Amino acid sequence: MPKHFAVIGNPIEQSRSPELHHAFAKDQGIELQYDKRLAALDGFQQSVEDFFAEGGLGLNVTVPFKEQAFALCTQLSQRATIAKAVNTLWIQDGILHGDNTDGQGLVNAITALGWPLKNSRILILGAGGATRGVIYPLAQAGAQSIQIANRTVARAQQLVEDLQTSVGTAQLRASALDQLHGEFDLIINATSASLTGDALHLPDDLQFQYAYEMAYGKASSFLDQAAQRGVEYSDGYGMLVGQAIEAFDIWHAVRPELKKFL
Ligand code: NDP
Repeated sequence: MPKHFAVIGNPIEQSRSPELHHAFAKDQGIELQYDKRLAALDGFQQSVEDFFAEGGLGLNVTVPFKEQAFALCTQLSQRATIAKAVNTLWIQDGILHGDNTDGQGLVNAITALGWPLKNSRILILGAGGATRGVIYPLAQAGAQSIQIANRTVARAQQLVEDLQTSVGTAQLRASALDQLHGEFDLIINATSASLTGDALHLPDDLQFQYAYEMAYGKASSFLDQAAQRGVEYSDGYGMLVGQAIEAFDIWHAVRPELKKFL
């Protein structure tokens, strides 16, 4: 019986995690089974308990359960504590452990693109769960400043307040999404606007050299505008691969090479 892993969410059909983990396992010569697990919206905890009771070794958690996963854990990594969200679960010494690998996944994807993060000035559009998860790893990677611009500016201000003490010397600022201007090295779209087909307008007096869209597999007006400006850009598939590699490393203590799986 191979070691058993799964990704849990609702919906779950769209998840690419099984194909990634099976590809990593093949690459590393590890035998495992990695399934998609649909949990009822009010049945997350029961589904997690059943999975581990049946001998499952590790779970990835996706929308909408990352905050519930955080609340379930007895032992949390520092980055999960800061993100207040968990995407990787496992049992160790009989205790449920949780980590959040999304932010490091983004850092690894950006690094693999050859884009500099040390001393960088970063603008993040959006202040949802994904933004919360990436700020600490970006600061750890050496970002000089991180500005969070959100449609609901109070949400960006709240994030700055919550994370201010966790980012060392990096400067955190909040601003409104409809007042974008200034000069940045990297701009990251962490809104879900591209998922709903809504266009984001990047004004001419907003300057940047690199553009990263967290969503993938969708048309993106953000990336279209980056392409028109002639700057380097990427969609979020590398971040997905990056977070999966981090989870694989936690469970199997080996790191597949990100570039092989892009
Ligand atoms: P949340 O629902 O937590 O947050 C959504 C954010 O988008 C909020 O800041 C919201 O603003 C903003 N927003 C939504 N619609 C619009 C719009 N029409 N115009 C402007 N702003 C808008 O989502 P997540 O943070 O979980 O995810 C954000 C994105 O990141 C998604 O595209 C998701 O697919 C992607 N993602 C990719 C990952 C990867 O591995 N590549 C991992 C995780 C996320 P407001 O606060 O005003 O409502």
